[in-house]
This record gives sequence, C-alpha cells and structure tokens, in this order.
Amino acid sequence: MSKHAHSFQAEVAQLLHLVTHSLYSNSEIFLRELISNASDACDKLRFAAIADATLYEDQPNLDIRIAYDQDARTLSITDTGIGMSEADAIANLGTIAKSGTREFMGKLTGDQKADSQLIGQFGVGFYSGFIVADRITVESRQAGLPAEQGVRWESAGTGDFSVEAISRAARGTTVTLHLREDALEYASNWKLKELIGKYSDHIGVPILLEKETWQEGEEGQPGGMVKTGEWETANQASALWTRPKKDISDEQYRAFYTQTFHDHDDPLAWTHNRVEGSTEYTQLLYLPGRAPMDLFQRDAKTGVKLYVKRVFIMDDASALLPNYLRFVRGVVDSADLPLNVSRELLQESRDVRAIRDGNTRRVLGMIEDLANKARTPADSAEGKVDIGSGDSTPAPEPTPSADGVTDVVDKTAADEAAKFADAADRFTRFYSAFGVVLKEGLGEDFGNQQRIAKLLRFASTTTDTVTVSFADYKARMKDGQEAIYYITADSLTAARNSPQLELFRKKGIEVLLMGDRVDEWAMGFLTEFDGTPLQSVAKGAVDLGSLQDEGEAQAAEAAAEQLKPVLEQIKQALSGQVEDVRVTTRLVDSPACLVVKDAGMSLQLARLLKQAGQ
Ligand code: ADP
Ligand code: MG
Repeated sequence: MSKHAHSFQAEVAQLLHLVTHSLYSNSEIFLRELISNASDACDKLRFAAIADATLYEDQPNLDIRIAYDQDARTLSITDTGIGMSEADAIANLGTIAKSGTREFMGKLTGDQKADSQLIGQFGVGFYSGFIVADRITVESRQAGLPAEQGVRWESAGTGDFSVEAISRAARGTTVTLHLREDALEYASNWKLKELIGKYSDHIGVPILLEKETWQEGEEGQPGGMVKTGEWETANQASALWTRPKKDISDEQYRAFYTQTFHDHDDPLAWTHNRVEGSTEYTQLLYLPGRAPMDLFQRDAKTGVKLYVKRVFIMDDASALLPNYLRFVRGVVDSADLPLNVSRELLQESRDVRAIRDGNTRRVLGMIEDLANKARTPADSAEGKVDIGSGDSTPAPEPTPSADGVTDVVDKTAADEAAKFADAADRFTRFYSAFGVVLKEGLGEDFGNQQRIAKLLRFASTTTDTVTVSFADYKARMKDGQEAIYYITADSLTAARNSPQLELFRKKGIEVLLMGDRVDEWAMGFLTEFDGTPLQSVAKGAVDLGSLQDEGEAQAAEAAAEQLKPVLEQIKQALSGQVEDVRVTTRLVDSPACLVVKDAGMSLQLARLLKQAGQ
C-alpha cells in the first residue's frame, strides 16, 4: 500500500512547537514518556487478554527493549504490548483526544516560562520525543491482526505525518527516534541506565537495555565500550506499590506520582498500606500539591487507578473514594475483585465499599497529620519536618473496622525530605487547593462529619486569614457563650461587611466568616461541633443567651410596644415581600437588615437557587 500524507490537527502542531521549544532544557523526560506509553501498551494487552488469551499469539513475554546506534544516531523503544492498527496510529498520534487538552491549549500564554510550567502539569507524552529527535518513526502491529496489517507512521514533527502499511511479524510497537546532533548523549548505555533508574524504575514490566562491556584498544588505540549482543534488565520490574515500603525511597514515591499522574508538582503527602482481612488490597494514595483544572466539573475525573492482582483494570475508579475526596490520586490493587469487574459492578460490590471506607480513613488521617504538624512547630526543630510519617506520628492505630478488616502492615508514609515546604505551608497549600471540596463532605459523609469539621478553616471577625478552626474558635469563646456563630455570604468581603455582625462586633463576640459557595449548603448539615451548637447569625432571632444585655432586651421590648403602629404600617407597605417586621437589638449602626426565619432558607441559599433557575 502506498504512503499517505496527513496533517496534524491544528492543536497538535501548536503543541508540538511548544513542547519542543519550551521543554528543551529538560529534554530527558522524553524517555520517561515513551517508556510510560510502552508500559501502558503492555497493561492494555494484559487486560484485553483476560477476555481473549489468543492475543498473546506466540509471544507471552511482555517487555520493553531499548536499543541505540551511535553511528546511525538512532534510539528505539520496542514493546510487546497491544500495538496499533493504521487507524489507531492516525487517531492516537495525530490528534489530541484527551479531555482537558483544549482547555490547556487555551491557557497557553506564549510566555515560555509560564507555559513550561503549564506543560509540566500535563502529560506531554508521545510528542516529547521531538525534543530530542528531528524525525520519529513508529512501526506497530496490533495484537490479533495479521503481520501484513502493520503500520509505519513517520513525522519530522512539523505540520504533517505520513502513514503506510507494512508487514511486521512482531506484535507491539517500535518507536525510533532519529536523534538531533545535540542529543546524541542519549545513545549510550550508562545514560539510559541512569534515566531509567531515575524515572522508570517502578515500571512493572522489564525494561531491557543492550549490554555493553569494556574492550581494550588494539595496538595503542584507546579502548571503549562495545555491545555484547545480550540484554540486561535496567529496572526493578515490579510495580512500585507491590514492594515493601521500606525498600522504596521518597524519590521513588515521587517519581511514581509524577509519571503516573502527569503532575510535575511534588505531592504533599502519601500513604501506602497493605490491608489484610476479609477484604485484601494495597492502597497507595497521594495528596496533590495543586488542584487539577477539572476539579469542579461535574464529570471531574478521580485519580484512583484500579488494579486487580497487578492487572490494570481502569482509570478513574470513582467508586473507590467518596466524591469529596476526588482530588486524591493513587492506586488500589485488589486481591478479591474479579478481573472482569465493570464500573457498574464496582458500585454494588461489598469489597469496594470496604476499600472505599479504608481509603477514606487513610486520606482523612493523612490530612489530619498535615494539619497537626502545621500546628506544632516544635516538631520541626531541625528544619526537618516529618509529614504524615507513621513512624514518628501517633497516627491512628490500626483499628478493626466494622467488617473486621484490620490494617496490619504500613502506616502513613513520610515525605520528610521535601525540599520546599514546611508543614504549615503544606497544610495551607492543601487547604487553599482542596478545602472547598473537603467541605462537601459535611453533607456527604455523615459518619466522618466531625472528623471533616475538625479539618476546616475559616476567616473570622478577629482573624483575616483562613486559619481559624472550630476548635480554635471554641477555645476562645466568651464566658457564657453557648454557640459557635458564623455567617455565610457570596464572598468573604460580603460576609465581613454584613450588618448582621454589628451587635457581635460591639459585644466582642467572634463570628466565623464563610464566603465559599458551598458553605451555605454544607453548613446546613452541621448542627454542632464537639458538643457546641452552630448558629448562623443571619437566621432567626439571635439568642445570645447569657451574653444578652438585660437592659438592652428590655429597651427593645419597650420600643417594640411603642412602635407597634409604625411596625404595622411598614409591614403593610411591604406586605407580600416580608413576613414580619421587628424591632431588633442586633444592629448598631445600620437602620435595618433582612433576616430569615430560623428554619427558613437563608438568603444566600435562596440566591443560589435563584441563580440556578429554581
Ligand atoms: P497518553 O499516554 O497520555 O495517552 P501520549 O501522547 O503519550 O498520551 O500517547 C498518545 C496515545 O498514543 C496513547 O494513548 C496510545 O493510544 C498511543 N500510543 C503511544 N505509544 C504507544 C505504544 N507504544 N503502543 C501503543 N499505543 C501507543
Ligand atoms: Mg503517555
């Protein structure tokens, strides 16, 4: 068949240009990305072969081989994975199908520095090969197709690519990079070994490298390394989460995170445990350092990948975490679920419920650790902060949960060497990225409501920053104060300037200020904290209990009596618009304010519903 020329989708051409120019100084990442694709292809084959074992053909081995040729200036990565048909190659290597990509492209500024940061959040994947290559050839044959239905895809990384049919006996894919002059360093055994160790050690299939040995030069000529014709395995070849925690370095945990979730910011903390009992699974869960772009979209992806006995089953297994923890990224490997488990089945599985509960418990524990460490600066005496380390933190003891599951192996792992942030900074970063999402848990997870409430932080009438916890508030409540007072509004500024606060200011009573959209809804579910009732100052007649000034109350009653005719008149004038008109003690400077009945929908919620067209 003849060769066909195709144009890249416009966004691809743009992305290519950007990738090759702005990632130039970090060119080595191409290897990690191509190995990651090869590994994904092996995962996909393993998964497809659950339903159809013939896909293994006569080649049951899954591996990745990296070969290079200094003279020809080539570097090739070959896998025995699922492979691509011609249509696949055109679709997968010529268009950007991924959601979020368009949005990503829209955010590009043209400022190289800013854009390379953006690119860092995003898996640049296959196209990163063009950082080091001026031409890339991909040869592939999909598992199950005859040898004649192979494909060769080729591009110089500018506007177009070509595709032609080839015959290829081997299943899987070979990506050949025609290295640029200044990228020849990658065509070397030691360089490749170093990069595999750095980025790809955790990959679950063997990565094989051409073996080299030293050969003396003849007759006074210098010696050199020569290939022996054998292959050596350059990675540990066992999936990271399956290894004992003590054998995994912080660097390796981070590298796994970066590569698996395409987030080039270090995670804030992680937890890695093998859970045994009636439901057996391994969990490796991370708190990201920043919010993904789709955090608030209805179909936002959750970042938990599901494996069953080390076979990759699916991305975004949302059943494994409650919705309010959707920012968590990680891997769950179950020993109990069937390999052919579907999303629908996941929703109903008892094992999945147990895993979700276990995950929830661990994630909340991890956030609690961050919060606790942020509060005790003494712990960081030597400038070394031990975040979420089960070894030095009184982390929650292994507790048998309802169905008798006991966590027996590891506790929360430490991220102690992280270079850039102390504990307080990490909790602040966590909270500013995900606090809003966490609040949803008040209405979503009643079993953990108090635990979640403890983690929330607010601004208040006495504190400008969003740092006040309910416990802080309680600790400084005035003598005789019986409730935790708060106000919700459209924004923090609106909350801060509300006339409802006048009386509280005058009396020196602190009020928590809430300005997130979710607050009104979420606080509706929380009636008390640690035994103290919560009271919105915008609802009903505010009862200050023993803090109420007797004289004031009497004066108000007298005024109400005296002003009765006036109140009646106002009420009539506003009839149909208000339910009652009252004399109040809650204002100091403002002449009047609107309040809602105790059980009534608050103004803020009413406004939200109106916006939503209700
Ligand atoms: P991502 O890996 O995030 O999907 P990439 O740009 O790295 O994005 O790869 C794009 C797509 O090309 C992959 O999703 C896959 O469908 C296909 N692909 C790339 N490399 C391989 C490979 N070695 N074997 C099979 N398919 C591949
Ligand atoms: Mg990829």
